[in-house]
Amino acid sequence: MSSLQESDPKVADILNHEKHRQAYGIELIPSENYASQAVMEASGSIFTNKYSEGYPGKRYYGGQEYVDQVEQLAIDRAKELFGVEHVNVQPYSGSPANAAVYFGLLEYGDTIMGLKLDHGGHITHGLPISFSGKSFNCVAYEVDKETEQLNMDAIRELAIKKRPKLIIAGYTAYPRKINWKAFKEIADEVGAITMADIAHIAGLIAGGVHESPVPYFDVITTTTHKTLRGPRGAIIMSKKEFAKDIDRAVFPGLQGGPHDHTTAAKAVAFGEALKPEFKDYAEQIVKNAKKLAENLIEHGFDLVSGGTDNHLILTDLTNKNIPGKVAQEALDKAGITLNKNTVPFDPRSPFDPSGIRLGTPAMTTRGMKEPEMEKVGDFISNALDNYTDKDKLAKIKEEVKELCSGFPVPGINL
Ligand SMILES: *Cc1c(COP(=O)(O)O)cnc(C)c1O
Repeated sequence: MSSLQESDPKVADILNHEKHRQAYGIELIPSENYASQAVMEASGSIFTNKYSEGYPGKRYYGGQEYVDQVEQLAIDRAKELFGVEHVNVQPYSGSPANAAVYFGLLEYGDTIMGLKLDHGGHITHGLPISFSGKSFNCVAYEVDKETEQLNMDAIRELAIKKRPKLIIAGYTAYPRKINWKAFKEIADEVGAITMADIAHIAGLIAGGVHESPVPYFDVITTTTHKTLRGPRGAIIMSKKEFAKDIDRAVFPGLQGGPHDHTTAAKAVAFGEALKPEFKDYAEQIVKNAKKLAENLIEHGFDLVSGGTDNHLILTDLTNKNIPGKVAQEALDKAGITLNKNTVPFDPRSPFDPSGIRLGTPAMTTRGMKEPEMEKVGDFISNALDNYTDKDKLAKIKEEVKELCSGFPVPGINL
């Protein structure tokens, strides 16, 4: 870091503050994680200097002997990790990966079906103002009002009525397991392609604690930086029959040169996820989420769907009389980072929703286990009971810092 300090003290100073924020705060945003030092070294490597439009063995520029090796390694490791026939490791991030699937397999105006945004879906699954909603006829399914979980009978009925060309499963704010097989059966009935977007749960699937969509689904996209704990980016996996169309959609359809430094870091992350320790990590993420959910319920919180099967918890704060935005801001003052979130059938707006979303991937990476989750739940409850009391929040922030000091972040030396 010393050359950055020397050549650009302003950026170095900002980075240093962010380092402290990450090290001394409780990070509960469920899409965030801490990448390892090895992943960051590869990501910050000289591969950033290279241009390599094309694919291994079929490039447009010279000097590809090492880039080809690192991209092939990333592909081979991803194949082994998920047991898929084809992988494209070039997508810049999750949203462009989804765009590439639609671009490669659909015509503009085709009908696609995904979970409604305020029920846990992602913006790229058909939100009217996103490219997905503008380019395609998007039909949204919802969670059941009673159970706040997916109702496969209702989804089947909607699919039969709307005959989508593509059905999307996999979410951003859904705390329960997904029945891949039931989705596949519905898709077969209406002749739809199946796409699993496992951005949030890829680490749980790779670690074997959640069922994989691979035996059932045609196409699977995932970010690499959430539970998978790699660099910021994404991959697209598919059955062989879709490989050509997807590769062409990524390049030259939507992207130019791949980010080779990120590809190298993806290879490192997949290597880490193939190690037996990663299974323990994935298991602990879920154990921690269940413990935290239990603690929050004891503190009178109203959890959407009543609990969690995965890494995340969605809490409706209506019964606590605190808007999600106010809760997020109060918790920020207590050194606890999470995000305000809509809950299913939310009467409030997305900018000022009723709930908060929290998750355990990042804290589990630091080595925290069930006893620490009890403490985290107590901090949250205490902070929200006193959300207007600045001194109280500052005091909690000190306690948060003390807890965090015992669990260093990989890759951060203070
Ligand atoms: C995070 C996420 C994405 C998008 O990833 P970006 O890298 O932020 O573009 C796509 N789909 C789902 C379900 C996600 O949770």
